[in-house]
Amino acid sequence: MDIDLLVVGSGFFGLTIAERAASAGRKVTVIDRRNHIGGNAYSEKEPETGIEVHRYGAHLFHTSNESVWEYVNRFTKFTNYVHRVYSTHNGQVFALPVNLHTINQFFGAAFTPDQARALVKEQAGEFDVATAQNFYEKGVALVGRPLFEAFFAHYTAKQWQTSPEQLSGDIVSRLPVRYNYDNRYFNDTYEGLPKDGYTAWLERMADHPNITVSLGTDFFDESQPLHQGAVVGQLPVVYTGPVDRYFDFTEGFLSWRTLDFEQEILPVGDFQGTPVMNYPDADVPFTRIHEFKHFHPERKDIFSGDKTVIMREFSRFAERDDEPYYPVNTSADRVGLLAYRDLAKGEKDVFFGGRLGTYQYLDMHMAIGSALSMWNNQLS
Ligand code: UDP
Repeated sequence: MDIDLLVVGSGFFGLTIAERAASAGRKVTVIDRRNHIGGNAYSEKEPETGIEVHRYGAHLFHTSNESVWEYVNRFTKFTNYVHRVYSTHNGQVFALPVNLHTINQFFGAAFTPDQARALVKEQAGEFDVATAQNFYEKGVALVGRPLFEAFFAHYTAKQWQTSPEQLSGDIVSRLPVRYNYDNRYFNDTYEGLPKDGYTAWLERMADHPNITVSLGTDFFDESQPLHQGAVVGQLPVVYTGPVDRYFDFTEGFLSWRTLDFEQEILPVGDFQGTPVMNYPDADVPFTRIHEFKHFHPERKDIFSGDKTVIMREFSRFAERDDEPYYPVNTSADRVGLLAYRDLAKGEKDVFFGGRLGTYQYLDMHMAIGSALSMWNNQLS
């Protein structure tokens, strides 16, 4: 085999490793079980409308990491898209993340920042951000009980089907809370969408004479030559699939949420006026609706077309054959994860990375950043 490194999985983690290794002169093969590159970041043009659809849910790129930003800009230009999300609660539209406008609209008030802060503190009761132990305590500490009930409790019940006391507080602190009228969804220095789409970006990362990509190739399929039994111990492997799958679930099944999408092409120019509308109420079965044309207002002809593509997003527990999206990370999962980490340490020349390989809720920039670190510290 004329291969110096095998990368299992062609998502951002795997492609970053592959690109770095190829640029350093290594011969890299990337295999992916799916028939397309890019893992869940993959997007494609919906043929009837030409609108770019993120096949596995909306992906918004943002980072404050200078080296990640410099790195990603080698492969794509970014638009000046700034992500904003609205939320329809009890038949009214509110701005997210929770900001002074949300608070004032919700309470029918005109609070100043200090007044709003004092109100939320009172409504947070005994909970404090610094000492909060879980999603519930942190969420209530951040926004107070009434806002938590309105915007987080039922949305989170739909998204996770897990009691918020069992979920990590880190999940809720992904969203900023602001006592001004800034409703940018992210706090990061850099933000934007790949100008020519995600797939063009991902393909450019893989476009190197030292990289071979083999799609439709399952690492666990013993009928293909680069399967687990044939390569582990023979050459370095970067594995970005689910860590429990690698070890054949011997330490139990780590729980994941998966998503189902219902896509519709509608004969209207604009369905909801914004890219993402969240539905935090219990009587709506989906969590949010994406309307993809709004991610690219600069694609003028497509944007002003008289059709639109929307996708309703539903969440449920992943069965073994479903695509994993979000690590639930309950206390039982953490026990299992520690056992898998121990096993992983004993696995000679196999490097586990990415959202699935580490069972971490990594954003794209984090996956890329951790791949760059792995390359620099362990593989180069
Ligand atoms: N969340 C919520 N209501 C919202 C948006 C988010 O309760 O309107 C909670 C929910 O538990 C979600 C978490 O905050 O899983 C993180 O939200 P984010 O938008 O970062 O999730 P992602 O876009 O990664 O699915």
